[in-house]
Amino acid sequence: MTNVAMTIAGSDSGGGAGIQADLKTFQELGTFGTSALTALTAQNTLGVHDVYPVAVEAVVSQISAVLNDFQVSAIKTGMLFSADIIHAIAETLKAYKQHTLIIDPVMIAKGGASLLLDDAVNALKTDLLPLATIITPNIPEAEVLTGLTIKTDSDVENAAKKLLEMGAEAVVLKGGHRDTANYAEDLFLAANGERFIMRSERINTKDTHGTGCTFSAAIAARLAQGFTASAAVIDAKHFIQAAIANGLHLGAGHGPTNHWA
Ligand code: PLP
Repeated sequence: MTNVAMTIAGSDSGGGAGIQADLKTFQELGTFGTSALTALTAQNTLGVHDVYPVAVEAVVSQISAVLNDFQVSAIKTGMLFSADIIHAIAETLKAYKQHTLIIDPVMIAKGGASLLLDDAVNALKTDLLPLATIITPNIPEAEVLTGLTIKTDSDVENAAKKLLEMGAEAVVLKGGHRDTANYAEDLFLAANGERFIMRSERINTKDTHGTGCTFSAAIAARLAQGFTASAAVIDAKHFIQAAIANGLHLGAGHGPTNHWA
């Protein structure tokens, strides 16, 4: 049987992040990809030039059209942009009793562009986080969500625990933004007590555009195929590590990670 996943996220005209990265990742991992767009970005490897949010009704209509027809085994969210969009997505997913939800709490693009309005953070915390099967923040996102400063290993543990208290079943706190020179460590912590650290060699490259999108999409693809949360996360980590190691030198700025790696 063909497994179906859905991404609810923004479009990256440059093809390296957002909906495009998600659908390419689904395809590469053998899951059929469906999508609901929340915003269009005019973007290339040098950065985000413009953001055009999609009307709330249009976001809901896309999700409903897909869920009314397909059996979607896992949904991931990426760039959600506004509190209104987040609220509508949460209500829609609750109405469909859609259970497997991976939330990549996208906030700011590497070039500095805001992909989530400041006043939308609260909606993300109160409306969507309690529905999450897995949430995949990086350190700056975890700091915004928890209000904690994250510098040490114990800060990482405390932030992950706080994110679980907000209602997620599991968290992957990605350590790439910490100042560890030769390696990066991601912490997996689940409400059922499961805990492990994924340590990987730090890869020196500027072609990392879309890393977070690709990682969370890979988790969604594997969950759609019936992997457990921990197995999906470990597999997605291998996928993103290879994609970063073989990043594509496209454009003049930050090239995309390589899904064929
Ligand atoms: N554009 C969109 C639509 C995204 O969803 C994201 C990340 O989630 C980005 C851009 C940022 O990509 P990066 O920070 O990896 O360059």
